[in-house]
Amino acid sequence: MTEPKESAASAGPSNFITDIIDADLASGKHTQVVTRFPPEPNGYLHIGHAKSICLNFGIAQKYPGARCHLRFDDTNPAAEDVEYVDAIERDVRWLGFDYGEHRYFASDYFERLHDFAVELIESGKAYVDSVSDAEVKRLRGSVTEPGTPSPYRDRSVEENLDLFARMRAGEFAEGEHVLRAKIDLASPNMKMRDPAIYRIKKAHHHRTGDRWTIYPLYDFTHCLSDAIEGITHSICTLEFENNRELYDWVLDNVDAPCHPQQIEFARLNLSYTLMSKRKLLQLVTEGHVRGWDDPRMPTLAGLRRRGVTPEAIVAFCDMVGVAKANSLVDVGKLEYCIRNDLNPRAPRVMGVLRPLEVIVESYPEGQVEELDAASFPHDVGKEGSRKVPFSRRLFIEASDFDKDPPKGYYRLSPGAEVRLRYAYVVRCTGVEEDAEGRPVRLRCVHDPATRGAAAPEGRRVKGTIHWVSADHAIDAEVRVYDRLFEVERPEGLEDLNPGSLEVIADAKLEPSVKGSAVGQHFQLERQGYFRVDEDSANGKLVLNRTVTLRDTWQKTQDKLAAEAAPQEPEKRAKATKKQPEAPRKEAPPERLTEAEERERGRLVGLGVEEDGARRLVQVAPALALFDATLAAGGVSGEATAKWIVNELLGRLRDGEVKVTGDGLAALLRLVDAGSLKGPAAKRVLAEMVERGGEPEALVASLGIEEVDADALDGILDEVLAAHPEEVARYREGKKNLIGFFLGQVMRKSGGQADPNAARKRLMTRLEA
Ligand code: ATP
Ligand code: MG
Repeated sequence: MTEPKESAASAGPSNFITDIIDADLASGKHTQVVTRFPPEPNGYLHIGHAKSICLNFGIAQKYPGARCHLRFDDTNPAAEDVEYVDAIERDVRWLGFDYGEHRYFASDYFERLHDFAVELIESGKAYVDSVSDAEVKRLRGSVTEPGTPSPYRDRSVEENLDLFARMRAGEFAEGEHVLRAKIDLASPNMKMRDPAIYRIKKAHHHRTGDRWTIYPLYDFTHCLSDAIEGITHSICTLEFENNRELYDWVLDNVDAPCHPQQIEFARLNLSYTLMSKRKLLQLVTEGHVRGWDDPRMPTLAGLRRRGVTPEAIVAFCDMVGVAKANSLVDVGKLEYCIRNDLNPRAPRVMGVLRPLEVIVESYPEGQVEELDAASFPHDVGKEGSRKVPFSRRLFIEASDFDKDPPKGYYRLSPGAEVRLRYAYVVRCTGVEEDAEGRPVRLRCVHDPATRGAAAPEGRRVKGTIHWVSADHAIDAEVRVYDRLFEVERPEGLEDLNPGSLEVIADAKLEPSVKGSAVGQHFQLERQGYFRVDEDSANGKLVLNRTVTLRDTWQKTQDKLAAEAAPQEPEKRAKATKKQPEAPRKEAPPERLTEAEERERGRLVGLGVEEDGARRLVQVAPALALFDATLAAGGVSGEATAKWIVNELLGRLRDGEVKVTGDGLAALLRLVDAGSLKGPAAKRVLAEMVERGGEPEALVASLGIEEVDADALDGILDEVLAAHPEEVARYREGKKNLIGFFLGQVMRKSGGQADPNAARKRLMTRLEA
């Protein structure tokens, strides 16, 4: 019976909670794991809830036979509504989690909860108090002073039973009586000073109607609902730490079916984001946003509408992990996960947000060419192409033209050349301006020899810009979102960003997107990821900008602060408000040159994570290796950059490295296929750095072999047999020796053992 279940090591990362569960399974305390996600249906779920959902449902997926319940904590009829119940169910399913038939409502337990309350009264552990709320508060004392008993604390069991029955029967007004647990008025934990467990509330409940006029309070309801459902691990956020004593007290003092363990973890806090449901509700009811699903909201409904996929949210939750201390997570991490997820799924198209007309005067009137364009860059490993019509009259992005360009400007300016993506190199020969001197139309000539991607002989054209054919373009409304709050730690509506929504009514898109369905994702080249919004109708597309291609926020903020600094104190105050209060973890990045900046943009477009891209572009041999590796094929930009930055950057900066792009690509493909684990791959790479060579040959010459379950057990046998003293000390309680054993196993396996699986097996063996 006590044989622990092997968990699927790959399903979700381990954390201190899964360590507790592993131990409970190993010790036989539990044979099956049951968790729950307990929202109150008084608002929509937000990204913070997603963290709790991923944790609780993730555990259910990780352990065979485990399950996670969705339980609505609906004990406060005044704030709750079926609209929220439906939205919560939809959002949990959308995230990809299935509670099957295990959907419950605390209100389903009202009768049983009532009986538990009666049980407490009968054993003298609860009483009806009849002083006012204010008096209850006053009598409770303070952290330094013990509480004082209410004059009703010693009512007889009979009187308490009678009053409680009459409370239930609706004989009293709200606030006239309250049922309190009789615990300890001198407890240092204020929650234990005779907390109220039932109150009179004459409100209509969305499920029980008018059946009840008394409602149980959270601390009484939650632990008992958990026990009724046979929850084994009741995971909640840190602010419930003080409630744990009460949770345990209630379960210890009634005849509860079981005693779940409450475990607290740190809630998710995101910069530039508010997550209090009360404040989100205020945004909705006061019309600061268009609804709970406004794409600027941190709600799952809002994120979905904006174009964020469930996979991106789950990846983000995995990335931030589960910790025991509160912290503020940079919203840039979420944006990073969103880009990463959309990169391989969003086909590339061209769209011009702020059109500037261009006449290609050398191109024949009436001629149209259908040019080939790939829908995905080659590194994402996806097929797909489309045709883009080219003609004499085009639109380009107004910001891609500068009449008076600064040095190092690679886009279009009078007399300068630029490549039109997938099409021709054009030179600007004239500018027509309006009365205020703003360009309204450009005249260009094209070079017919440069069609497609053909390199213009002997000339370097540095910039490439996007465009659409004016007569073929389709109209779209594009909604460009910025952060809803303009300060890092917003507190309320006073911190709203007035420029969080910009509606561009007359954007022009290439015709291939015509008729796209609601929910379709695109990357508008050079601009960002977009999703077709529900408001699209009658052939008119409405797009939401999900996220830009790279992080422009910090840059804009820096610029604002710099501009504001000299003269305007008011603006400066605002700008400095936007600066993070806490010291930044990393040193401020060095400024990149214009050319490096461009390269960085390109790398980010290839899926390279921001910081990695910044570091790569500053080391020319690293950038060359990166490009050579991608050119070899079968690898992602993201992984390639990670390996180069983490393992090779210093060496590449300092001198000769014998790794070729083909070699590195071959190595990464082995890692990707799972036939080479990280630590073993690093050994192979170290050889390649020193001596060059092919990874397959090195794997053989280094004697690296696959480690399957049997081989792993063999290695464990050897390691445990070789260290009897450590085994004994571990069993006496020196649990942190696990790291020592794991190190031995990894070494013996040549770095090829799966560390998660090894850790699991080790614990099982050591506990046996
Ligand atoms: P409020 O905004 O009113 O405090 P809440 O977050 O408490 O609302 P619930 O519906 O009670 O809302 O939350 C359901 C579950 O989600 C709880 O277990 C809660 O701990 C968890 N949860 C809520 N917010 C976060 C967060 N930011 N990070 C992680 N878990 C969260
Ligand atoms: Mg709550």
